[in-house]
Amino acid sequence: MDNGMIGKIEKAKRYAQERTRIHFDALTVTFEGDNNPHTVHYDHGTWTCDCDFFQTRGRCCHTMAIEIVLEGMIPVAEKV
Ligand SMILES: [Zn+2]
Repeated sequence: MDNGMIGKIEKAKRYAQERTRIHFDALTVTFEGDNNPHTVHYDHGTWTCDCDFFQTRGRCCHTMAIEIVLEGMIPVAEKV
């Protein structure tokens, strides 16, 4: 491997530790729930999930789990 790539890999490892550098604007996730898979979307601060709970509450265990996984890289909604 050339020195240029080695340097980039080292930089990538450092960046990966600095999560606040990374801001997710939008993403789509297939979430394997206990019963069914659910599709979760995040788009510039707005979450959607196709589970029943989300339809009435606007948050659900799927969106909140992803908020935890992506902590520091997406704005976290107000705690309920
Ligand atoms: Zn959900």
